[in-house]
Amino acid sequence: MTAGLRLLEALATPHGVDRYLELVHPMLTLRELRGEVTSVHRSTPDTVTLTIRPTRRWRGFTAGQYVRISVDIDGVRRTRCYSPATSQHRADGRFELTVKAHESGLVSQWLHRNARTGLVLGLSQAEGGFTLPTPRPDKLLLISGGSGITPVLSMLRTLADEGHSGQVTFLHYAYRETDVPCLASLRALVSDNVRLVLAYTDAEGGDLTGFFDEDHLRTAAPWFADADTYLCGPPGLMAGVREVYAALGRTDRLHTEDFAPAPVTVDAAEVTGAVTFARSDRSAPNSGQTLLEQAESAGLDPAFGCRMGICFTCTRVKTTGCVRDLRTGEKSTDPDVEIQLCVSVPVGDVAIDL
Ligand SMILES: Cc1cc2nc3c(=O)[nH]c(=O)nc-3n(C[C@H](O)[C@H](O)[C@H](O)COP(=O)(O)OP(=O)(O)OC[C@H]3O[C@@H](n4cnc5c(N)ncnc54)[C@H](O)[C@@H]3O)c2cc1C
Repeated sequence: MTAGLRLLEALATPHGVDRYLELVHPMLTLRELRGEVTSVHRSTPDTVTLTIRPTRRWRGFTAGQYVRISVDIDGVRRTRCYSPATSQHRADGRFELTVKAHESGLVSQWLHRNARTGLVLGLSQAEGGFTLPTPRPDKLLLISGGSGITPVLSMLRTLADEGHSGQVTFLHYAYRETDVPCLASLRALVSDNVRLVLAYTDAEGGDLTGFFDEDHLRTAAPWFADADTYLCGPPGLMAGVREVYAALGRTDRLHTEDFAPAPVTVDAAEVTGAVTFARSDRSAPNSGQTLLEQAESAGLDPAFGCRMGICFTCTRVKTTGCVRDLRTGEKSTDPDVEIQLCVSVPVGDVAIDL
């Protein structure tokens, strides 16, 4: 921190300098990262594409990473993860997010309805390890479905900017052609070494029809066994691709990014006792669901972001009891430890400071 900024912070105590600067303009903040929407575009009926100009602390991103975006809805700050879809080399330092409006989704519906030029969003630095290696592989298969197109489209655009001359197939799944975001720009990326394969699950007219299977894989990229594959899409597509790669013994070449959590497998032996949300004075029998879902069922509204253990928005203190981490299977029995509600299931009685 510079001496000048330290002095300003001291003068602005206890609120911090950003609280004063944002009164002048929300993009003037020195510490908090923000992004201003500079254009809004709707390339399909249920998506909205926002171009974002970040404040000066932004450190850029690597294709395939995600950012956390925060918006205030009815006075409550809500945070969700979105993956930039633009090239990491874009010259003006801006990036695009394409958000699919989920039927009952809070933030995605809000953005779809309310995004406009000049809107200022809370922003995090880019995070995540779903990225291409350097040097770039000679053969690449990029597979996406629905809104999962964003991180792999960013990879494709980045490779184009780098003049990558290796073989790339971009295999994208959509219900029908009108549901493919950024289709014109995708088609413009096709070249001697870049092939676009569109698969429609609910309509004819694509290069392929129906859901992913081994035939689709062999048709789209006959050389897939020698390639690295990057995959992002809805749970059904993720499961289908993982299954085929496992059967073919190629899992080691498959790199994945999930937008949604895997379904919870409930262990009946652990579904005992009660869950207590001490601060809210609520208690209910343990249902076996995640602590986030049990809190929501108890009528609470804890902040959450990804619902799959990557963004830490739902971190709370477990004061007593045992929980199991859904991703690792590890149990935590110590009192007064921070846990992520979205990936923790109670094992017997548990009390949470919520
Ligand atoms: C790394 C990463 C990158 C992502 N990138 C993109 C992207 O580029 N584009 C994109 O469109 N999306 C992306 N997503 C998904 C995005 O973060 C959001 O999950 C999505 O927009 C839905 O958010 P929402 O607020 O609209 O829905 P939410 O309101 O969060 O609802 C989503 C689901 O959560 C569950 N849920 C919510 N509230 C409750 C409740 N009270 N009780 C029980 N269950 C509940 C429901 O199953 C619901 O269907 C990404 C996700 C991750 C993890």
